Amino acid sequence: MQTSLLHKALYRWYEQNHRVLPWRDSDDPYAIWISEIILQQTRVAQGMDYYMRFIQRFPNVRTLAAADEDEVLRYWQGLGYYSRARNLHKAAKMIVEQGWLPFPQTFEQIRCLPGVGDYTAGAIASFAYNMPFPAMDGNVYRVVARLFDCDIPFDTTQGKKHFHQLIEQILDRTNARLFNSAVMEFGALYCTPSLCQSENEVSRCTLCPIRVHCLGYKHHTAEMLPVRKPRPQLRDRYLNYYIYVSRAHVGAEPQTLIRHRTEKDIWQHLYEFPLRETQDALLPPDSFSFNEELSIRLIGQKGIVYRDFTHVLSHQRLHARFFYVPVETLPAIPDTITISWSHLDDYAFSRLTLNALSALTHA
Ligand code: SF4
Repeated sequence: MQTSLLHKALYRWYEQNHRVLPWRDSDDPYAIWISEIILQQTRVAQGMDYYMRFIQRFPNVRTLAAADEDEVLRYWQGLGYYSRARNLHKAAKMIVEQGWLPFPQTFEQIRCLPGVGDYTAGAIASFAYNMPFPAMDGNVYRVVARLFDCDIPFDTTQGKKHFHQLIEQILDRTNARLFNSAVMEFGALYCTPSLCQSENEVSRCTLCPIRVHCLGYKHHTAEMLPVRKPRPQLRDRYLNYYIYVSRAHVGAEPQTLIRHRTEKDIWQHLYEFPLRETQDALLPPDSFSFNEELSIRLIGQKGIVYRDFTHVLSHQRLHARFFYVPVETLPAIPDTITISWSHLDDYAFSRLTLNALSALTHA
């Protein structure tokens, strides 16, 4: 493969087609790090607002390290995969402790930060410092698999190693910043999973500026690449949540119960309403008491509503039922804390809970 011609064609395409993104023209490693972590599991359109708010509140490593974890999680609320936010916070503390301010300068230092894998380390090292490291995200794996007509699953340890060797063959070592940006953008916008937008449309490969370098195009295999390892089966879970809201007495605000999720499980360190997880199915719609021993005095029967949601995570399918139960006084449920309803915004909840709150309070 004539790599200099490949680079030339790729850079010309990038010059004419790339999106304008706030972190793209920056060489600030901190801003690049935050944007890369946000975009790991999030689309650009959704991640943009989070990025702007996060950077505004935590403009550098020092401010992030000094913040409470609860506050960091609140700025992450709704983005999902909360371990990313916890790792960002841990990594910021580590940078301060190691004396690596304003930001680590070597690939090895960057790579050893919590939550930073090969991809993120390569992205930061190349975008911020123009160091000759590849940054292989899902879009890049697709382009490389097609360019080399490689059908080895890219999401296995062996596959990753192999793809790393392939990209090293075409990496522009003198300008890794531009090379990585161009390949990532090309994969995101042009060499997309489906190469025909509709059945009648010809494949975009026929007009592709780098098709002469592409073995997948030559061998008619592009559309079938890249190959993934078989996905594990999703585990079904049944979550019954109780949103108890106490009556507002004169001069007092309505209150509710929430608990901190401390166990090693999804949504660790976020808050939630009292939860009963059941084995094979959700509880019946009239199960408005958290458990059999608990006696609750309801404010009539009318205000009780429930809403069902299904939420799919990478390995689990969550079936959730949220009971909204107005009560005279809040029941005593272990491990919960009582808060004013108007202070809910001070606590970080999962996207699922936020959706349920929005649906129930507008019911
Ligand atoms: S020819 Fe098709 S498969 Fe190959 S790089 Fe271009 S768009 Fe991707």
